[in-house]
Amino acid sequence: MMTKIQKTFQAETQELLDLMIHSLYSHREIFLRELLSNASDAIEKLKFESLTDSSLIQGGENYEIRLSPNAEARTLTISDNGIGMSYEEVVQNIGTIARSGTKAFLKLKQENKASTDLIGQFGVGFYSAFMVADRVTLHTSKGGVHQGVLWESDGSGSYSIEETPRVQGRGTTITLHLKKFEDEEGVSDFSDPWVLKSLVKKYSDFISTPIQMKSKKGKPTEDSSAEEDETLNSQKALWLRSPSDLTPQEYSDFYKHVTHDWADPAKTIHYKAEGSIEFVSILYIPSQKPFDYDFKDRKSGLNLYVKRVFIQGDCEELLPPYLRFVRGIVDSDDLSLNVSREILQKDRQIIRIHKALTNKILSSLKEILDTDRVSYEKIWLNFGQTLKEGVLSESGGYSKLQELLLFRSTTSENLTTLGEYVHRMKPGQKAIYLMTGETLQQAQNSPYLEKVRSKGFEVLLMTDKVDGWVVSRLTEYEKLPLQSVLSESLDLNTDEEKKAEEDQLKVFEVKLKPLVDSMKNTLKDQVQDIRLSTRLTDSPVCLVSSGEGATAQMERILKSMGQAVPQNKRIFEINPSHPVFEAMLEAPKSKQEEFSELLYQQALLNEGSAIDDLVKYSKKITSLMIDSLK
Ligand code: ADP
Repeated sequence: MMTKIQKTFQAETQELLDLMIHSLYSHREIFLRELLSNASDAIEKLKFESLTDSSLIQGGENYEIRLSPNAEARTLTISDNGIGMSYEEVVQNIGTIARSGTKAFLKLKQENKASTDLIGQFGVGFYSAFMVADRVTLHTSKGGVHQGVLWESDGSGSYSIEETPRVQGRGTTITLHLKKFEDEEGVSDFSDPWVLKSLVKKYSDFISTPIQMKSKKGKPTEDSSAEEDETLNSQKALWLRSPSDLTPQEYSDFYKHVTHDWADPAKTIHYKAEGSIEFVSILYIPSQKPFDYDFKDRKSGLNLYVKRVFIQGDCEELLPPYLRFVRGIVDSDDLSLNVSREILQKDRQIIRIHKALTNKILSSLKEILDTDRVSYEKIWLNFGQTLKEGVLSESGGYSKLQELLLFRSTTSENLTTLGEYVHRMKPGQKAIYLMTGETLQQAQNSPYLEKVRSKGFEVLLMTDKVDGWVVSRLTEYEKLPLQSVLSESLDLNTDEEKKAEEDQLKVFEVKLKPLVDSMKNTLKDQVQDIRLSTRLTDSPVCLVSSGEGATAQMERILKSMGQAVPQNKRIFEINPSHPVFEAMLEAPKSKQEEFSELLYQQALLNEGSAIDDLVKYSKKITSLMIDSLK
């Protein structure tokens, strides 16, 4: 038997604990929800594992969670007869934080960017006990009379751990030595049965295991033999109740139980599927983007129940990755209780549920978009980038997703859908125009927009990282082509206009030939070709990609991912009616060379690309300033 030893907390664990203890005041009562959730999870896990290993339980189990407050001793004990933990598991689960993003979270907190709400999204779990207790003991056993592990800590730096039999056998008991709070802090007395009763009702009513508490029957003067068990929760699986019976508060509390979020969800979808596959589901769209949302190892997915038995949390197979922001539960009678992780991936019923859930979520999102634009835009700002990934992954069937996309645009302050864009299209407009760029400002000011704008056409501005790819997939909407204004083949003119422009270009071509030849010579290493173009109206030059070449934005993405970017020379287009070229035509060769370089660099800067030697560029500009002032 191992003797009692003292261990120090992992540095991040301690930091988080300090945070719990010193800077969270307003939500102390949620510790009860967290500990009851853990107790309930432990029992659900046992129920599930005993399906395949009946030796874990001794037959007719009486599962229960028990609250035992003691006002004189100022303690509160929460015990369960769930799965329990081994010695190693206690060290692993309680002394270390396995949760992804802990470091990043603590950094945000240090920089004071993390509000109290953020810690809610982070999910504090067991450690929230230290919000109300100055000493916490945890006594747990995986079963077997002689086993048991006793863990204890005051939350400052270290904990003790030893093997001690747990007389009740399998399960976990957590004892909180409650802090004394000054009255003005307005903290409830968590050893008061009334307080506990109301907190259970508020946060944990739907937990499927009975939460018991001894309560005095009759007059308080009578002795303790008059105490009897009272069940504090209704234990009704929320999802089996009729939506018309459920209050927003109940949905919201259940959401918090499932996700550990502190904020209310943005939207709740209670969905009962009937037909080829039957299941019930409660789905939530969070109101905030979790701070660790973009972390690779972040868990997502829904909690899966089969016939009311909890099977698996974070079940990713139930939703496509582009809906990974949706949280909630699914309960089906059509699955076997013995489903394992491996089976889940290819189970036909799971695939059906996946499909039905995807359709339901997409149509619910459409409904929100149509009926509650403000909420939808909030959802979009949080999770729109993720939704867009669906355009890339949905093989062909993204028509529903197309309707859900929102865009910035050149003519509207507000976000717009493709449908709204089409509605505003000018007579004679042949395509939906779009512009990709690094930032909104840069996209808006791009010289590539000049011609389209002069025609009065609206352009969608796409500045998300994924947009380069989205555009490559999203080629058509309502039979209208989506066309990038960066593309070489952009054609905005009527036949007559084209004819007139071509004639004009011919004149310019003859006139500017000596200059263009000289420019081609100067820039032969940088560009594929130099062409006169009618694309621009105000700016002198721009760079365009020839058909197959990667667009500038794609190049930047590839570069940022550390990928080799194929050297793809681009086409340098010049606006022959710009006065600079007439002036350059007359200038000496050396000036022509110098200005050609400058114009090329300007074109790069305008599209948001980097230029090789910014300092040299600036110096040149300064010397030109001096020249012009002389
Ligand atoms: P979370 O519950 O979000 O995983 P916690 O910090 O609350 O985080 O708990 C960490 C882990 O400790 C749990 O995942 C679980 O494995 C274990 N644990 C906590 N409470 C209990 C309990 N009452 N019975 C068994 N295991 C528990």
